[in-house]
Amino acid sequence: MPAPLMHIDSSPSLPREADVVVIGGGVAGVFTAYYLARRGVSVTLLEKGRVAAEQSSRNWGWCRQQNRDARELPMATKSLDLWEKVAQETCEDTGFRRCGLLYLSQDENELAGWTKWRDFARTAGVTTHMLGAEEATERGKATGRKWKGGVFSPTDGTADTSKAVPVAARGIMAAGGTVHQNCAARGLELSAGRVSAVVTEAGTIRTKTVVMAGGAWASSFCNQLGIRFPQASVRASILAVAPGASELPDALHTARVSLTRRGNGGYTLAISGRACVDPTPQQFRFGREFVPMFARRWRSLVPGGAKGWCAGHETLAKWALDDVTPMERNRILDPKPDMGQIRLTHQRACELLPELKRFAISDAWAGYIDSTPDGVPAIGEVEGIPGFILAAGFSGHGFGIGPGAGHLIADIITGCDPIVDPGPYRPERLKMAAWGKVAEF
Ligand SMILES: Cc1cc2nc3c(=O)[nH]c(=O)nc-3n(C[C@H](O)[C@H](O)[C@H](O)COP(=O)(O)OP(=O)(O)OC[C@H]3O[C@@H](n4cnc5c(N)ncnc54)[C@H](O)[C@@H]3O)c2cc1C
Repeated sequence: MPAPLMHIDSSPSLPREADVVVIGGGVAGVFTAYYLARRGVSVTLLEKGRVAAEQSSRNWGWCRQQNRDARELPMATKSLDLWEKVAQETCEDTGFRRCGLLYLSQDENELAGWTKWRDFARTAGVTTHMLGAEEATERGKATGRKWKGGVFSPTDGTADTSKAVPVAARGIMAAGGTVHQNCAARGLELSAGRVSAVVTEAGTIRTKTVVMAGGAWASSFCNQLGIRFPQASVRASILAVAPGASELPDALHTARVSLTRRGNGGYTLAISGRACVDPTPQQFRFGREFVPMFARRWRSLVPGGAKGWCAGHETLAKWALDDVTPMERNRILDPKPDMGQIRLTHQRACELLPELKRFAISDAWAGYIDSTPDGVPAIGEVEGIPGFILAAGFSGHGFGIGPGAGHLIADIITGCDPIVDPGPYRPERLKMAAWGKVAEF
């Protein structure tokens, strides 16, 4: 059950060479290629299925600074500005709006945590408003209940997940780059230890620089090169209701359920943090490193089934470059949603916002959210393989920071001043991440 997604055409033919090849047509890969193409770099984007058909169309669309870990906050702030500019640069609508995000709570501990974050955010120049009981109740009047307090982050926003990334992919082609869908990268060729080509199912592309932005598939690809990238994913389920409700907030988080207005006027509904753990070979391999993260989240994680094992994205198998790979066998990672959770989400949303009772579920889908052990993405050149840049592990919050991540990678490749300090994202930190600091929020 895929999420609603705009179709885009691919470029006509695969080039034989390129300055940079980007693997993966999600938000990270697309914005990397977008900023490279706009700088005149010859860049080719490879996507094994359809642009944005995995995590990057299946998410809520929140582009937030609110409650970000300190390591990601500068990138989140820059990304909000970049989201605004993409619409001007492409003359197309990504659905991005700074509508503000509303958080409501009845829990003193939760409110205290938000107050602590507000105090920290001030030091980074980020504005966020704590709401007292009266103001929270007023802003949350669609719920018809009294709230102890909340937060409103006026400079945050949402983008339309059904078209934002495809629009940016068209921007790559408009700026002179190429985009190839249904074209999996099978592996790399190295010469004297550094990248010299990408082998795809449709031919080989000579290049000195490759960006691996394959989302949940990144670690299994790295494994072919002997690179140990600790990554694991969980399956989150989400639903949409048809347009028609008029009195609801654009974006609302509560502990029981959250909602987001979609580009078509409908709403996405989900339970924050709730996900199924489908065991995979990779989870066993990196299990020890993920203990702190899973321990912190154990209340919201439930055991899943064999779907993840069968999907192939977290395989430990090695494959040959002249044969069909797991990426071609599974063009789009499209796990089944947990229907029990879908019904619970809808029920909770109708209890919270009675207006929603008039609207049936129009769509339901799931997505595998890929994480690193410390909840912060791995972005940067991999030690030991010059020319191989990793950009994955966005840990459930990569959509909002996609433009900033892509810009940073383009800066690294072209030797420009980086838009943010790349230090917190360096992949080599994960060698020691086993018991490191897990992202706070
Ligand atoms: C239910 C849900 C809710 C979320 N809510 C939010 C939110 O509100 N805000 C937020 O910021 N984030 C959110 N996220 C997280 C966000 O969606 C992800 O962090 C982000 O989309 C990851 O982008 P990506 O480009 O790394 O990966 P993806 O979007 O998964 O893209 C990776 C792409 O690489 C392709 N690929 C892989 N291997 C190869 C290969 N060898 N050759 C060619 N192509 C390949 C895949 O087909 C895929 O299309 C949510 C995620 C989910 C699932």
